[in-house]
Amino acid sequence: MLEETQYGYQFKSGTKINHLFYMDDIKLYANKEKDIDSLIHLSQVHSKNIGMTFSIEKCARLILKKDHSMLTDGLRMPNGTIKYIEEGYKNLGILHSNINHEVEVRHKAITEYKSRLGQVLQSQLNAKNQVMAINTYALPVIRYSAGIIKWTEEAINETNIATRKLLTMHGALHPKSDTTRLYFDRKDGGRGLKSLQQRVKEEEQGIKAHAASMATSGKCLGEFQSAALTMDLRHDDEKNDWRTKPVHGAYRRQISKVGDLHQTYMWLKNGNLTTNTDSLIIAAQEQVLPTRQLQTKVYHTRDDPRFRLCRDAPQTIQHIISGCKQLAGNDYPEWHNHVARVLYRSLCNEYGLNKPQHSFEGPVEVNENDLAKILWDFYSRIHKHVLANQPDIVVVDKENKRPILIDIEVPNDYNIASKKRQVRERSPSLRRDLKMLGCKNNCSHSRHWGTERNNTGA
Ligand SMILES: [Zn+2]
Repeated sequence: MLEETQYGYQFKSGTKINHLFYMDDIKLYANKEKDIDSLIHLSQVHSKNIGMTFSIEKCARLILKKDHSMLTDGLRMPNGTIKYIEEGYKNLGILHSNINHEVEVRHKAITEYKSRLGQVLQSQLNAKNQVMAINTYALPVIRYSAGIIKWTEEAINETNIATRKLLTMHGALHPKSDTTRLYFDRKDGGRGLKSLQQRVKEEEQGIKAHAASMATSGKCLGEFQSAALTMDLRHDDEKNDWRTKPVHGAYRRQISKVGDLHQTYMWLKNGNLTTNTDSLIIAAQEQVLPTRQLQTKVYHTRDDPRFRLCRDAPQTIQHIISGCKQLAGNDYPEWHNHVARVLYRSLCNEYGLNKPQHSFEGPVEVNENDLAKILWDFYSRIHKHVLANQPDIVVVDKENKRPILIDIEVPNDYNIASKKRQVRERSPSLRRDLKMLGCKNNCSHSRHWGTERNNTGA
């Protein structure tokens, strides 16, 4: 009915349009005040016929003459008056008017985005869920306007910088950490944030593709297609890949030689730490934590690079983690036991054995049921004194009738390969020791395993 009136706004191409629909919203266009009022009345009469009514308070009429909006009395309708609007108005969340409001729309989107980002960062969500919330709750605010208003690379870069500032303020990104890493997949060692550039580009391309595919069915979409916005992106991603950076990527390159990257980054993929812990671990791996070595050699804010505890060697992450004699006495064994206990608990789960109530509670010496027997710290007990690097856990799987010796090592990343070798080389002598205990055939008879160790003569 609207199209039959022949009223409407005409494009240069000759295409005429007088209405846009979205769900139960309608937007009418015409060339003259008289024409638009006819269109409004026509819509109102038709709505009444199909049992719908205008929400008059939500309706508005804007009359433009040579780029100036006109003051009018509004339009009297049977159930009220449609007010006039002078400035602009919001339709589906985007500001419309006769003048260019892009700057304002962009500013509003960025403000809303930052406020949502702040909300997410203050939340108690774990690291993975925080990132997911940013991607699905904060980013869409900007994505929504893409393709309708212009997003320049400059505006996006500014927003990215503001994003990282907020992340740093909330302890979610170490100030010296690599920033490109934020946008890598978590299973690949990144933080899983979606890139704003990518999102805007996707949205623009999506709208454009939709307009292209629908252009034949709606002439207006054809007009849109020729006017559609696109953003030109420079592709310098490869240059900015954190994995190839000399310092930030060193840990990853080291690990990829000796270990399994997929398993190495399982903690990021599972994402159940807090964002702060995430960013701290990553900063440590990237070797950007302000150690005394870094403060002396790079920042020049200190003269003595030596570690406060031992005054023996420069304070580097590696030294703290695995090279300090002062920590070797208590701290390293403590870390080692933490790891052993985690493994012990999961072994208990696997065989349906009772496990300690809390992770800080020590395991029992012998834990047994019909399926298996698990001996904790068995080797050091039979030798009556603690030997370094001996198996921490012995598992006797009763079905397979085989003992499994588990030795936990918490090596520096650089030593994983040589530690693996050491463990393998040690195994034959352990086998001999176990045979000496009276076990000839790797059997699982209880008298050979721990509980009756005095009978074995050990
Ligand atoms: Zn030291």
